Amino acid sequence: MLFRESSLALYRILDFGPILDSLFVSAEPQLCTICRGVLQHCNTHLETLCTQVSTQAFEYTDFKITFSISIIAYLKRLLVIGMAEEELGKAFRYKQTKDRSVVDFKEVYKWIMSPLIAKRLNVPANLDGTFLIHVSFAQREEGGGAFHENTVIQGVQNEMESFSGMLGKGAKWKAKQDWKHKKDNHANQSGAVKGAEQVISSVSKLALPLLKELDVFKSQEIAQIDLNTLMSVDCTMDNILLYGRYVKLSREVSQTPWNLGTKRMHSVQALISDNLLPIFGSKQAFLHAAGREDIDVRMLGRGRPFVMEFVNPKKSLSCQGQIEDKGLRKAINSSLVYCHEFKIVDKEFFDSLKDIEISKAKSYSCMVWVKRRITPQDCNKLSTLVSELHVQQTTPIRVLHRRSLAVREKVIHRLQATYINQHYMHICLLASAGTYIKEFVHGDLGRTTPSVGSLLESEADILQLDVTNVYDSVQSVAELPLSKLFEIEVVSDGEADDGEA
Ligand SMILES: [Zn+2]
Repeated sequence: MLFRESSLALYRILDFGPILDSLFVSAEPQLCTICRGVLQHCNTHLETLCTQVSTQAFEYTDFKITFSISIIAYLKRLLVIGMAEEELGKAFRYKQTKDRSVVDFKEVYKWIMSPLIAKRLNVPANLDGTFLIHVSFAQREEGGGAFHENTVIQGVQNEMESFSGMLGKGAKWKAKQDWKHKKDNHANQSGAVKGAEQVISSVSKLALPLLKELDVFKSQEIAQIDLNTLMSVDCTMDNILLYGRYVKLSREVSQTPWNLGTKRMHSVQALISDNLLPIFGSKQAFLHAAGREDIDVRMLGRGRPFVMEFVNPKKSLSCQGQIEDKGLRKAINSSLVYCHEFKIVDKEFFDSLKDIEISKAKSYSCMVWVKRRITPQDCNKLSTLVSELHVQQTTPIRVLHRRSLAVREKVIHRLQATYINQHYMHICLLASAGTYIKEFVHGDLGRTTPSVGSLLESEADILQLDVTNVYDSVQSVAELPLSKLFEIEVVSDGEADDGEA
């Protein structure tokens, strides 16, 4: 057991060897009674550890490790410190205080194992790396038995309860109150890790005579355990964030997955991720898009920006080569959805995607029906009336389940209406982000004012809607003539170059 005296100076409990020996009966004279050899002999399981890492088949260029050991080791350490204090008095200066603390088992393990693993896996250790190897010697998996963490924690908790009858006044009573208080606070929390922290914190406040009485110190014979069997190795890779823009050519594809009865319907998320998951060696992916369009609305032009988050990817290196070339496009692009402008992005970029949703302006194209007879002059009038037009929108009933009730002011920057026949017109418009276009056309029973209907003094409805482009800002397109502004850019999906039919 190591103690930290300053950032550089360390101090070993081994120098109190006689105390240690008096505490626990060890089957082997040289076996450490606190960690049961986990730290003492940790190099003996190096080979098994590295084999297990290889079996999990991740691609990585460096690694970092975390480590967990049974709560029993932490409890024994409390006892040893308590005993050392009692036996040595002032000569033992290494209490668990801020500046003189016990070095955590995790740190010791990293110091010992990092260079060995680095040599064996032939990659450097990197604290800021993306590949994490978690090594555990605590039994946390399903099952049970006397050494299972939950069993140990429950046992100590029960004992602490039984102590409450024996506790007197003063510090002991305080310890009990703290314990009760903590227990109430965490009543709803579960899991071995949380439970372990609680138990260690409570036990650390016990007076030494009570501490010595804990069953956990008596029940086991300290025998060498098979570290290779006890050890579990669990690798994880940081999620990969893939940026792109998607063009949706169908009026029957929603953005997020949904089912009709038992039938899984097409979704943008599934259409993009299904074929990409194998490329990233990932089992799960989440679509984070800058806004959304309704299922019956096409997303045209250059498409909507999105980030696809691939969870725990195994092919984080080999996927890189496929992002540059046409591999990803080929994997995804279909007659329903296609994507382009792929690049791997970082967390900051990912966060900024949410701001994109607020700052962008979008252009739309829609087919509109008007109840009264209209003339080409009505279309011209509408085009003139709607210029930097401020619109008040009360949250539409149809989205009230996901957005709060409020009146929001939106701006229809520009509008171009084209006469088709006595009851139909085609409208292109540029609106600020978050405008409900359908409601701006039909007025939503007066919840959106003004509307195309109210401006034409008639009932109006929207038959088809497309998002034709997502612009960086209104300013960036302020000077564009209407014909250019509402032009639908056609993105090559790259297939033509390959000579495919
Ligand atoms: Zn040890």
